[in-house]
Amino acid sequence: MAPVLESANYDGPFMIARPQYDLHCHSTVSDGTLTPTALIHRAVERGVDVLALTDHDEIGGLPEATAAAADAGLTFVAGTELSVSWRDLTVHVVGLRIDPECPALLDGMRAIRSGRSRRGQLMGESLAAAGIAGAYEGALRFAANDELLSRTHFARFLVEAGHVRELREVFKRYLTPGKPGYVAHVWASLADAVGWIHAAGGQAVLAHPGRYKTDREGMDALLAEFKDCRGDAIEVLTSSHTEAQCREFVTHALRHGFLASCGSDFHGPGESWMDFGELPPLPASLTPVWRDWPASALLR
Ligand code: AMP
Ligand code: MN
Ligand code: MN
Ligand code: MN
Repeated sequence: MAPVLESANYDGPFMIARPQYDLHCHSTVSDGTLTPTALIHRAVERGVDVLALTDHDEIGGLPEATAAAADAGLTFVAGTELSVSWRDLTVHVVGLRIDPECPALLDGMRAIRSGRSRRGQLMGESLAAAGIAGAYEGALRFAANDELLSRTHFARFLVEAGHVRELREVFKRYLTPGKPGYVAHVWASLADAVGWIHAAGGQAVLAHPGRYKTDREGMDALLAEFKDCRGDAIEVLTSSHTEAQCREFVTHALRHGFLASCGSDFHGPGESWMDFGELPPLPASLTPVWRDWPASALLR
């Protein structure tokens, strides 16, 4: 494999495409459909060179993924994606190169996860009131990790039970603010999430910023507060950004002085907006989040 710093030294309009970094995806330990091992194999087959597993509020998949990546010759980055409440929004903060044994991070993630079961029950009650019975139990059947019951598991249940044709439609009709099945929830604070990631020696990355439903002023306030909390990077390239949003967040990264990250946010074949191997290279005007990473031994 080429040295991982190679792309950072390229000064053309785009960084060279290899090695290819994908720093955001999910396994069955959160709301993905592939086991950590199957995820690693798919990433390798599709040309990813450096992969981070970033399960929601969890690091339980990292040992298996680390072993599978070592066997497959893939450079692996230990990660997670923390759920955060900021103003009236839920935002996600990815942690990269974290120490998965850091007590502050483990305690923080446990605290975030602890609210999920009760929230799931309330989501089930809300759907029952809308005429959909058995959703809590139904969603649990899709969750390999019963501590990590997610809206995605409810979405899979709603499709299986025939209430919605396909997964992408579910969130438009259910599970989002104002719709049946949505239950407001308070997650971690932005400062705590960044602090736990830093306590674990990692870098904090604001995930898919284009997805947050806020105006220009709100986005600037979020980015400024993330910067004040010592957030390190923002995801510029992610499957849920339009081309215009990619350009917009290039500008934001440069203006606020953030490093730039990229990740598919892959959840499973047939379910995701983007598969492994489909991310374009980062524009060369940006400084990649991997700028100071060592060329080998990226296990943390
Ligand atoms: P939760 O953490 O339980 O609120 O679930 C959030 C997860 O739901 C995200 O990580 C996505 O995987 C999924 N999700 C949220 N909104 C959408 C959407 N509009 N389309 C598809 N998946 C979504
Ligand atoms: Mn998810
Ligand atoms: Mn996310
Ligand atoms: Mn994600």
